[in-house]
Amino acid sequence: MPPRFIVGNWKMHKSISEAESLVNGILKHYQPHPSVELAVAPSFVSLQAVSRLIASTPIGLAAQNVNAHDEGAFTGEISPLMLQEVGCHHVIVGHSERRHIFGETDSLINEKLHAVLRHGMLPILCVGEHLNERQANQTHKVIHTQLQKGLEGLSSYDLLRVAIAYEPVWAIGTGHAATVEQAAEVHAGIRTFLAMQWKIDAERIRILYGGSVSGDNAGTLFHSPQINGALVGKACLNSESFVKIIELAKTS
Ligand code: PEP
Repeated sequence: MPPRFIVGNWKMHKSISEAESLVNGILKHYQPHPSVELAVAPSFVSLQAVSRLIASTPIGLAAQNVNAHDEGAFTGEISPLMLQEVGCHHVIVGHSERRHIFGETDSLINEKLHAVLRHGMLPILCVGEHLNERQANQTHKVIHTQLQKGLEGLSSYDLLRVAIAYEPVWAIGTGHAATVEQAAEVHAGIRTFLAMQWKIDAERIRILYGGSVSGDNAGTLFHSPQINGALVGKACLNSESFVKIIELAKTS
């Protein structure tokens, strides 16, 4: 089994000094272990400070977003070259907040994903259904479309460099996580879909669950072999609750 991958998405939280304190708090309590890979995704302005602090640790640096172009007249945007230079290994693409607040389409997400890979970084592609789509039994259909369009044009080699984060929109930031059965069922569906479309051994794809993961539910979620890690929002903003999730990823 590949190491469980735990990613903390700090969203638009933490000043630079708060970001440094959070990393120092994680480093104080976190005991690296081969069964867990860890990454943090601070805001753009904190990337450099965090990069310096984690440079000699096994913690990876992730960005929350990227522009698909290398450079140009794109005011307010950050290019993959800039992320690479600051030390990012991973980039989150297609987060539900990017899709629904900022109107990102599957085709834009696909361009970003290609840009990330082109610059030697690893994308974390987020997919997930709305509550009304789940209630209408559309979950698999919605996610297959997001995968098909978001991953379009990828070779099977590149696909194996992508981590998928299943994040049901109704579970993000609501305190109502999916049950382990709900998440495992969708993860299995994602694997079957990718195996059929790309003819790969989909057991090799890392599929993370995200949506109200906490120290209270992570252990149960990690019991499923379908769940290869977690994308954590709120609970990663405090070093104790984040380290608790990391510890559960080791031992569960
Ligand atoms: C997220 O934003 O990716 C997320 C999962 O947030 P939360 O853990 O707060 O639901």
